[in-house]
Amino acid sequence: MPRRLVLATGNRGKAREISALLGPGWQVLLQSECGVAPVAETGTTFAENALLKARHASAATGLPALADDSGLEVDALDGAPGVRSARFAGESAGDADNVDRLLADLAGVPAERRAARFRCVLAFVRHSGDPRPLLAEGVWEGRITTSPRGINGFGYDPVFEDTGLGLTAAELAPAAKNERSHRGRALRALRDLLVAAEAASLPQAGA
Ligand code: IMP
Repeated sequence: MPRRLVLATGNRGKAREISALLGPGWQVLLQSECGVAPVAETGTTFAENALLKARHASAATGLPALADDSGLEVDALDGAPGVRSARFAGESAGDADNVDRLLADLAGVPAERRAARFRCVLAFVRHSGDPRPLLAEGVWEGRITTSPRGINGFGYDPVFEDTGLGLTAAELAPAAKNERSHRGRALRALRDLLVAAEAASLPQAGA
């Protein structure tokens, strides 16, 4: 019997990706399917936001919960947009508005000073008051281009160029993006933590 886990998002794409990575041992439910409203993301770090979303989803459902928080950090902007990535150009901003604001803020900044990274933190709690949450982080290094390229993905993908490949995230097929991306790396790290936590909680043979 797979164990149930609630994912603190309404995004089906994320749920599919996470289910595939966790494997058949877990049945992943969306918090939106469980009638849970999103909580305000008031933290100042990705880890704080991921943990508060996971605790909220777990408190509302009584199930173990998993949440992610992610965004873009640009060195020349002192780490902005960071936790404000989704609303960089304003509370109701869309992806195109955020990309336009980013390119405008970086106007005139030379290629060698356009370093940036995507960061993703995942938080897993067994129950809402879990004193030992599992936290996993993934980072994807790159730089910001001067104009958008590519049609895949979402958010800042068209202006985020992978350091080694010289291609933007929007020029990568979804599987190639998952291999390199902050979210893919964080998910693989979390899967390892879950396996280790499980092994540690099993009674030892002969004990
Ligand atoms: P969230 O963690 O899914 O809420 O993402 C926060 C924001 O960070 C998104 O709205 C995007 O603007 C940006 N972001 C996070 N991950 C990615 C990515 O893989 N590609 C492009 N933008 C991303």
